[in-house]
Amino acid sequence: MYKRVLLKISGEALAAGKGFGIDAVFIHKIAAEIAAVHALGCEIGIVVGGGNFFRGVAQQAIDMDRVAADHMGMLSTVINAIALQDAIEKLGLFCRVMSAIEMHEVAEPYIRRRAMRHLEKNRIVIFAAGTGNPFFSTDTAASLRAMEIKADILLKATSVDGIYTADPKVDDKATKFDQITYSEMLRLNLRVMDTTAVSLCRDNNMPMMVFSMREPGNIVRVVSGDKIGSLVTA
Ligand code: UDP
Repeated sequence: MYKRVLLKISGEALAAGKGFGIDAVFIHKIAAEIAAVHALGCEIGIVVGGGNFFRGVAQQAIDMDRVAADHMGMLSTVINAIALQDAIEKLGLFCRVMSAIEMHEVAEPYIRRRAMRHLEKNRIVIFAAGTGNPFFSTDTAASLRAMEIKADILLKATSVDGIYTADPKVDDKATKFDQITYSEMLRLNLRVMDTTAVSLCRDNNMPMMVFSMREPGNIVRVVSGDKIGSLVTA
């Protein structure tokens, strides 16, 4: 259904319930799903988070300068990006990491035209280091890169199977939205992603699917047009 997608994977997802670090088994499962999506002929850009290592707003950074803490957060996304690249390449696919913070020995610098070329040549591209700026999130980076690479849709893989009226882990009366608009999400204060990311998508008409990555095969299902998750439109 989609020719080109931007997949956002949070750092937390890579920790697979452990809370910290990278789950070696789970990252290979994610890589296999990405390979399955690639086999459908879909071009894939990926933004990885870094919350499994460090978040600029975390308690452990409370006494730190925010800019310094955010630099640490962005570097942690690079660790995840390299791990995911390695897992994807083990499957025989071509994958490039492009970093918003230059570190030539480790990753290519993010250059939009070069990213487009990689995608056209069917290489998977992982966008690391967020936007390269403090005070932003990797959700905002995902929205930004989705627009830059002209993705058909932003796919936000989470631990919940969509957007609910309240947190379904806390409120058993919470109901799921099959579809919702960005404006409604803001109005209802649904904290699926930060408001900077939401307004970027809304103002630039970028649809987003929020779905669970916990069940194997879900990324393929979403890309194939199955109506799992919640669709967000402008
Ligand atoms: N970060 C940043 N600028 C960006 C993206 C990320 O400063 O453009 C930092 C920020 O400190 C953030 C951390 O990197 O807390 C990890 O990103 P995020 O919390 O979005 O990761 P996720 O929650 O998706 O694992």
